[in-house]
Amino acid sequence: MMTKTTKTSRVIIPSDLEELLEDLGMSLYPSTGDEIRGWCPRHEKRVGYNQGTPHWYINRETGLFQCWSCGYRGHLLTLVQDFGKNIWEALRFVRQYGLDISNLEVNDYERKVIIKEIPQNSLDKFEKVPESICKKRKLHTAVVDDYGIRWDKKNLYWIIPIKSFSGELLGWQEKGKNWFSNQPQFVLKSLSLFGFHNLIKGDPVILLESPLDVVRLASIGIGNAVASYGASVSEEQIRAISSFSDEIILALDNDEAGWNEARRIRDRYLRQFRLYVISYNHTKVKDVGDMSDNEIFWAFDKMEPALIAQMRKNGTSVIRGTRRP
Ligand SMILES: [Zn+2]
Repeated sequence: MMTKTTKTSRVIIPSDLEELLEDLGMSLYPSTGDEIRGWCPRHEKRVGYNQGTPHWYINRETGLFQCWSCGYRGHLLTLVQDFGKNIWEALRFVRQYGLDISNLEVNDYERKVIIKEIPQNSLDKFEKVPESICKKRKLHTAVVDDYGIRWDKKNLYWIIPIKSFSGELLGWQEKGKNWFSNQPQFVLKSLSLFGFHNLIKGDPVILLESPLDVVRLASIGIGNAVASYGASVSEEQIRAISSFSDEIILALDNDEAGWNEARRIRDRYLRQFRLYVISYNHTKVKDVGDMSDNEIFWAFDKMEPALIAQMRKNGTSVIRGTRRP
């Protein structure tokens, strides 16, 4: 178990939690007791229709919530982030309602609020990934090891570590055939980048969605890549990259979510970074993990500055602003 000393500051869920939720735009059902009941704010997005009967509950003590119908769950702070705020904005927002987080630092926050403490040796129970498994995905076992990826022999899952920027194990992802799960469930991926601890300062950073694609690139000699664990890239992830480089090569997925995010990053960060986009013009695959070695080299050979690149999904390539010198 972890023996690290932790601060004594505690997260207190605001007493006017109802007001907070209503200010977010949620509809609540008159509730007393430990739980506040309401209509699930993500229901339509998740299942395609609005919720008739309110099946969404949040606990006043812990701030944990769950929709018993669609399974949407998390913590008050993740809820606020799901309304379009980054973690810092979420903390500021919640503080207005009396949540005292003045003595919390990010790591304390991660530990206490979201991840609960997890033993730093949690991955030791898993095995080295067998060579035959690596081969199927065209990955080098030495590189797989180097990135700390393990294998769950019993369930046949890849075990992909999730570490804070300071190197602490926050959790992991289990990835198998028709199986995908975060452990623990509320792990704060937005405060982590897969591959971050292998970055070299000064070199352009390649930004991917999927951790195994980082390993795939490294297996053919393309290093300095990180993965955001999904199509949405957080402010903190970008900030972490900025401490290593002012050049980012966007290699997000070749699907609508990937292109939307690439456009958002271009529009938001074009003054801060030199941004490039890899080319998918030679292929219809969804990500670099599905490409042959040659296709990958081609994708990087043909990359373009984000300002002039066709971000082609939806056919909307908008050129804005001025090019950096
Ligand atoms: Zn729901």
